[in-house]
Amino acid sequence: MSELSKEYDLVVIGAGSGGVASARRAAAHGAKVLIVEADRVGGTCVIRGCVPKKLMMYAAGFGHAIEEARAYGWTDATASFSMAHWADAKAREIDRLEGIYGQLLAGSGVTLARGRASLLAADRVQIDGAGQGQAPQQVRTKRVLIATGGRPSHDALPGLDLAMTSNEVLDMREVPASLLVVGGGYIAVEFASILAGLGAKVTLAYRGSLPLRGFDQDMRQRLADALTASGITLAAGVALGALTRDGQGFALQRADGSLLHADAALNATGRSPNTEGLGLAEVGIALDQRGAIVVDADSHTGVPGVWAIGDVTQRVNLTPVAIAEGRAFADTEFAGRPTRVDHRTVASAVFTDPPLASVGFSEEDAARRGPVDIYLSEFRPMKSAFAGGQSKSSMKLVVDGLNDRVLGVHMLGPDAPEIVQSLAVAITCGATKRDFDRTLAVHPTAAEEFVLMREPARRRLRAMTAA
Ligand code: NDP
Repeated sequence: MSELSKEYDLVVIGAGSGGVASARRAAAHGAKVLIVEADRVGGTCVIRGCVPKKLMMYAAGFGHAIEEARAYGWTDATASFSMAHWADAKAREIDRLEGIYGQLLAGSGVTLARGRASLLAADRVQIDGAGQGQAPQQVRTKRVLIATGGRPSHDALPGLDLAMTSNEVLDMREVPASLLVVGGGYIAVEFASILAGLGAKVTLAYRGSLPLRGFDQDMRQRLADALTASGITLAAGVALGALTRDGQGFALQRADGSLLHADAALNATGRSPNTEGLGLAEVGIALDQRGAIVVDADSHTGVPGVWAIGDVTQRVNLTPVAIAEGRAFADTEFAGRPTRVDHRTVASAVFTDPPLASVGFSEEDAARRGPVDIYLSEFRPMKSAFAGGQSKSSMKLVVDGLNDRVLGVHMLGPDAPEIVQSLAVAITCGATKRDFDRTLAVHPTAAEEFVLMREPARRRLRAMTAA
């Protein structure tokens, strides 16, 4: 670590997507910015999350595409998959992206320090060098932004530390013959689907009756059906006990006395905020019961001069949200342009096969606020139907029964994330069902179904109890 200046306008701790975006935006507003990173630049999303996960999803998708290709007349379409080849290519791509992140920081005039940062006071940060024998350095700063993200948790059940997490799955060099996935959230369903697509025999074990708690119930059911149809065993609806390991592999006990076995196990039971060693207690920064930094609507910690954004605050743990929070902080503090992030309507996608994407309210949440009209469309997508596939795409609009506003858009099917991203603009603008109706279709597409839904499948009065 080279010699740093003694004074900064902003020190950002953590060079993940949120930290990098905040640092660059603050620098663009003229601030003198230092960003400190103990690991690789790019953080969870780029190095061991969204990006390599999506590359693995693409790898899995080719298997299916090769099968379909035969039905389209590609006579010699056969192939085998080498996980080691993918892992090497992925490592090169992540190195490239990490380099780009470094260049973006340098090009924006942000100083990058490799090391571990801790707060000595709200305006004083110590950086312990990453290299051996490097003396710690101390800098003064007008503001601190904590953007240290999170890491996989191991404490939901005994024995989870024996299992892989999303970090290790992304570095596997062989597809296990069988895989037990523990959990039913984003990470669990995505890797269950991807590894099944790569040829593993997958069991997905979760305690709820359906995966993806919080998503629209119809979509959860249809996703569960699609996962089953793709050969995944859903071990649902039973509380989970301890995970153990023996010479044969892994075994997960369940509350009904049953045991689930597999060669490999993936712990996907949630993520914990990275707050250790930052000196938070010493400067009076409060944590909530999940260990997340408590912040207000402006990402302020309550300690003058210290803000926190992204997964370390456990608001909505998604990369674009962390980026938006960081940019809002920078615009507010360094450009005199008060900006807040609206966390109420955040679109998100689950990269299963088929993928699921949503923006706005689920039917259950909307019905708790007032009457709703529900529009549904279900069809076999043209591309796979031609190849004899039985899978169905599902689309759903949740519409306010009083003022016709579209409150929720949900889709399970090929291209759902791309389609829902575009419709999120309409939802942000407050589009009504009439606006959808007067929009002309692009034909032949799957997305056109969203503007061709004529009659509600059902009308619901306000639900008085939780669904
Ligand atoms: P989630 O919070 O989504 O899911 C955690 C899962 O673990 C749930 O199914 C939960 O069950 C289960 N669980 C927790 N404790 C126990 C327990 N004691 N016994 C049994 N089951 C338990 O966490 P993930 O790790 O999947 O993902 C972390 C975050 O990362 C997500 O919230 C998301 O914001 C983000 N992410 C986003 C992605 C995307 O946008 N595509 C992809 C990957 C991650 P239950 O629901 O019953 O509590």
